Amino acid sequence: MARYTGPVCRLCRREGAKLFLKGSRCYTKKCSFERRPTPPGQHGVRRRKVGDYGLQLREKQKVRRIYRVLERQFHNYFEQAESRPGVTGENLLRILELRLDNVVFRLGIAASRDHARQLVTHGHFAVNGRPTNVPSFHCKPGDRVEVRASRREREPFKAVSEALRSGQVPEWLTLDPANFTGTIVAAPRRDQMPLELNEQLVVEYYSR
Ligand code: SF4
Repeated sequence: MARYTGPVCRLCRREGAKLFLKGSRCYTKKCSFERRPTPPGQHGVRRRKVGDYGLQLREKQKVRRIYRVLERQFHNYFEQAESRPGVTGENLLRILELRLDNVVFRLGIAASRDHARQLVTHGHFAVNGRPTNVPSFHCKPGDRVEVRASRREREPFKAVSEALRSGQVPEWLTLDPANFTGTIVAAPRRDQMPLELNEQLVVEYYSR
């Protein structure tokens, strides 16, 4: 599956917000957005009027870029969210949160969603005991996500094991650090998703 491979700090500057796409660097003074919070490009510093459509578009792009999903897949997720009972915007965020790469990131096993994606595609994870290398795999409440036993001694997990032991996970997940295993206790509620987003604008964008 194709994915954006360009400079990610540019995406934060475009969206006018820190999207935390680079792991630990995002929390340091090296963060590009901290140093230069203007939009990228030659005319980035110009003031522009933003209408309703512009606001909706930017919010949609922001959500899509936080979860590192391309347009077509994001639109498919929106259609799924619309067809489910409940609030469409919240359904959409829930679907995105339950992607396997996001669960790995939320468990603290990876520094960023890109890192989580890489670990998943390299076949380091199993879901309910079955090896799974698809980052978009949709997890459900009750699913068990674990680093495969044969991979736990490998370099990426040696580095994260300490972080794992002290890591805090969201309420909808539990973590068993000794066994490199996380369990999805329940689908996340909106107040359990720490995101500064207005998902209603995304719904309005697709409802035009
Ligand atoms: Fe965004 Fe700053 Fe992280 Fe770069 S370092 S991805 S600008 S939050």
